[in-house]
Amino acid sequence: MDKQYDVIIVGAGPTGMTAAIYTGRARLKTLLIERMTPGGQIATTSTVENYPGFTQGIEGPDLSEAMETQTKRFGAEMLSSEVHGVSLDGLDRVVHTDDGDVTARALIVTSGAEHARLGVPGELEYMGKGVSNCAVCDAAFFVDSPVAVVGGGDAALDEGLFLTRYASKVTLIHRRDQLRAGKILQERAFAEPKMEFQWDTVVERINGNGVVSSLSLKNAKTGAPSSLEVEGVFIYIGLTPNSNFLQGLLPMDNAGHILVNAWMETAVPGIFAAGDIRQQAARQVVSAAGDGATAALAVRRYLQELRAKAGE
Ligand SMILES: Cc1cc2nc3c(=O)[nH]c(=O)nc-3n(C[C@H](O)[C@H](O)[C@H](O)COP(=O)(O)OP(=O)(O)OC[C@H]3O[C@@H](n4cnc5c(N)ncnc54)[C@H](O)[C@@H]3O)c2cc1C
Repeated sequence: MDKQYDVIIVGAGPTGMTAAIYTGRARLKTLLIERMTPGGQIATTSTVENYPGFTQGIEGPDLSEAMETQTKRFGAEMLSSEVHGVSLDGLDRVVHTDDGDVTARALIVTSGAEHARLGVPGELEYMGKGVSNCAVCDAAFFVDSPVAVVGGGDAALDEGLFLTRYASKVTLIHRRDQLRAGKILQERAFAEPKMEFQWDTVVERINGNGVVSSLSLKNAKTGAPSSLEVEGVFIYIGLTPNSNFLQGLLPMDNAGHILVNAWMETAVPGIFAAGDIRQQAARQVVSAAGDGATAALAVRRYLQELRAKAGE
């Protein structure tokens, strides 16, 4: 690994990989840093049906892999490491990783978001022992077993429907009496005989003895307690932006989304933020790809301006 790049991109989800395809094709020396396997949220998603060009949809891991291959084809270097801070040194943006510091004139933050936690007893204790945020990864452990999905948005329904291929029953637990998910997913979920719904219900505790065995529930309106026997619980209650490593450097909203303009420029020259990490993102693969392209084009223009000022 070199130490000096034209552009460093933090996070190899759809946004970061699209940005790297564009900066690679612009012949900018590009480093893409990822702490896990490339793909971001789509690496653990079942079928993506709304990304144009795939008439029958495409499995999330397959789309991730195709994007990674395309990213490498145009010359972006990939570093498997976690970024834990960024500092400024004149016009250089210094990125602090687990594997040392790397520097570039431009930085694109595409660190996306991760699943929010319920914050109830048993959740962390049984993570990987029945508690999961990834139906694609873990559904096969629950063949003919009852499972629950917590949440009421697209991700909860999409992954709940995926789980019906394996589980004996999928109970969707939602704190409200209506779903937020898109209508087509709602229609499919209501028509699926293996899906059941517990409305106005919150999870109070995840119980087990080594592995998950049941959930302690409460009716959000009446306060009435109940319990549900399940072997797995899949939590899809929203996302938390991965922006802690930039606290104090970039202006953010209260939730931790980075503020940008239409060209994905942050308040700090030479630092751009795109995709799910930015404020008011549409949080879709297609908009993530669009954001990545926009940020890369803005970086190219920024570097051209720097070179023109330096008389290069
Ligand atoms: C279950 C589920 C189903 C979905 N289904 C669909 C769908 O059908 N259609 C659709 O359009 N969208 C769907 N989405 C949303 C879509 O996946 C996201 O909008 C998209 O992945 C956002 O891309 P991103 O690159 O901005 O962020 P992410 O995909 O979150 O990628 C960010 C990457 O940055 C890495 N990273 C974070 N912090 C650091 C760090 N400090 N150092 C190094 N690397 C770091 C992460 O590991 C991650 O790989 C779904 C999401 C989920 C959770």
